[in-house]
Amino acid sequence: MAQRDYYEVLGVDKNASDADISKAYRKLAKKYHPDLNHEPGAEEKYKEVNEAYEVLHDQQKRAQYDQFGQAGVNGQGGFGGAGGAGQYSDFSGFGGFSDIFNDIFGQGGGRQRVDPTAPQRGQDLDYTMTIDFMDAIKGKETDITYTRNEVCSTCNGSGTEKGTHPITCDKCHGSGVMMITRQTPFGVMQQQTTCDKCQGRGVIIEHPCQTCHGQGVVEKKQTLQVKVPAGIDNGQQIRLSGQGEAGKNGGAYGDLYIVFRIRPSKEFTRRGTTIYSEVPISFAQATLGDQIQINTVHGKVSLKIPAGTQPNTRFKLRGQGVPKLNGDGNGDQEVTVNIRIPKKINDKQKEALVDFVKAGGGNISPQEKNFFERLKDKLS
Ligand SMILES: [Zn+2]
Ligand SMILES: [Zn+2]
Repeated sequence: MAQRDYYEVLGVDKNASDADISKAYRKLAKKYHPDLNHEPGAEEKYKEVNEAYEVLHDQQKRAQYDQFGQAGVNGQGGFGGAGGAGQYSDFSGFGGFSDIFNDIFGQGGGRQRVDPTAPQRGQDLDYTMTIDFMDAIKGKETDITYTRNEVCSTCNGSGTEKGTHPITCDKCHGSGVMMITRQTPFGVMQQQTTCDKCQGRGVIIEHPCQTCHGQGVVEKKQTLQVKVPAGIDNGQQIRLSGQGEAGKNGGAYGDLYIVFRIRPSKEFTRRGTTIYSEVPISFAQATLGDQIQINTVHGKVSLKIPAGTQPNTRFKLRGQGVPKLNGDGNGDQEVTVNIRIPKKINDKQKEALVDFVKAGGGNISPQEKNFFERLKDKLS
């Protein structure tokens, strides 16, 4: 098969900087990595990309490639230690290569084997609880039921039938790993990989536990009493330690996170620990002042409306808001007064209003015909 130009493989030009080459490589390696891309030909592309990068990333090899082409990097042009049938047990000999892997696969790299027999903590679980507005303010106790994996009580999590034991894997002889070899431009490379027969456990369960079918865990419904903290807000969560999924190999249980969704109230709105509400008052109350009762989330309180209160004036009711989760008292309530103009008043009220205007030295021409007629009759 004709070898493609390395620069072409990475899609960079001959003057590309080292950074450009690394960037192009990272993008393509991710695109064609056999763990991530299962399309036909992806693996070939991946090998090609790696080969190009291994050469172009190294200044010395790149110079030789530029000068001698393919021959310069096939061992014939002389590459020092890299030529011939040298064997590499890992990628470290290439310098920079494993760094790139770490970049792609996160800390530790995709090649690092996690010991499958080591204790592993169980998964955390999420549970969404929807509660009423007032329950979020007062707090409450409630039961929840959910499903989680628990350690199988028949086999205590071992996955084996009582009286039997797992046998040592005959493919990896209990090591959990096997070596694979692959051909590279630098010779044969050996690479360690997880044993595909035992999935790295080193043992095989011949007689699986009947209850959990060898899984070591069983799905179970569990009911828990949950204490909803007074003052919890929409989107906030609490953590119930150890109430998540069972761990593996004797590892601890994960946690359960309860996320709260709070139904809105018709009367109040809430931002943080502040409660907002509106109260209607009459023109007369706004003008003359009054003492009125206000609904708060804690019950009714008295509010003094001063004479001459303007529309949309806000009053603060200290300590009448939402309890703070840290126990440091309550937030406040802000009340906005909404001055209502009556749509219907009786004749006596109408006359009083005309008198009110006149008493202030003003004039008024009421637009309601019947009333005006009657008023004229009365005055004449
Ligand atoms: Zn094995
Ligand atoms: Zn079991």
